[in-house]
Amino acid sequence: MSGRALRWMMSLAHRTSQPKTASLIIVRHHRVYADGESPIYRLGVGERVFAAQLELLGAVGLAPITVAEGVRWLSGARSGRRVAMTFDDGYRDNVTRALPLLERHGARATFYLTAGLIEERTAPWWDQLAWRLERAEVRKATFEIEGRRIRLELEEPAGRSRALVALEPLMRVTPELRQRRLESLRDLLHVRTEAPCELATWEEARALGGGGMEIGAHTLTHPHLSLLTPERQHAEIAGSIELIERRLGTRPRAFAYPGGDYDATSLAVAARLELEHAVTTRRGDNGPDARPLELRRRALSDGACLGPTGAFSRRLTLAELDGAFDRARGVEAAS
Ligand SMILES: [Zn+2]
Repeated sequence: MSGRALRWMMSLAHRTSQPKTASLIIVRHHRVYADGESPIYRLGVGERVFAAQLELLGAVGLAPITVAEGVRWLSGARSGRRVAMTFDDGYRDNVTRALPLLERHGARATFYLTAGLIEERTAPWWDQLAWRLERAEVRKATFEIEGRRIRLELEEPAGRSRALVALEPLMRVTPELRQRRLESLRDLLHVRTEAPCELATWEEARALGGGGMEIGAHTLTHPHLSLLTPERQHAEIAGSIELIERRLGTRPRAFAYPGGDYDATSLAVAARLELEHAVTTRRGDNGPDARPLELRRRALSDGACLGPTGAFSRRLTLAELDGAFDRARGVEAAS
């Protein structure tokens, strides 16, 4: 049975119950794509699914709020649930697609901006990787790395997707090593152009700061923090906070660890910079004892919301928000 069919079966048996203590669910989004857009590296939801999510949440009395509002609520609440919504990275589509829909539904969200990439107009590494595979002038190649030979078949979209899945883990290294790997891939595949930066400009990002939305920081260049020295971790985190303050006029109190990667140093830096809350990619919801600098989230991609016929499923989406599939995915017990 496919994962989708299995989740559908499980959702039939799932019953939503009110949690005994207060619970803050933080939804993790990245991009909102135009309907019909199908990039090989899909990092988000389609516009129609996102609109359906907002409509559903509004209808069940859980219209999304910012993380700041959620954390404030959690500190005084004894029971009940709230949903906060987040967007990582700072893509332009957050401004052009997510923001108008949020406003239309009376919903709010926290947007985490990768400040240095926005400033330099540089595409994040995963977009650079996808671009190389999409724009390769060589259709078949062997990428040799650390004694391994990775065969790349780039003729068809399916082959490019497979190549991306094979190469992606090799990019979770220090920024310098990743840069070298991206460069050798560019040379191997005879790619002549650089990936365009699809992040918002500062001018565009300014629109995210109004209407009760919250802006948070997401480092300067989106490194894996735990691979950096303490000094560089501080420079990445503090640098993004200061740059956002300089460009948008408000100092973020919110932060998201890039790729969900952090260690004790990151936590100490976040505390020293007086960040009020920070989100991870650990799956789960947040109870009254949640640590504000290690908040858990739940992804809500198209796949999580579409039933067997491909139509938006309210039941599946609510079961996903409830964490009905956490056990099936082998999540550690929420603590
Ligand atoms: Zn990110």
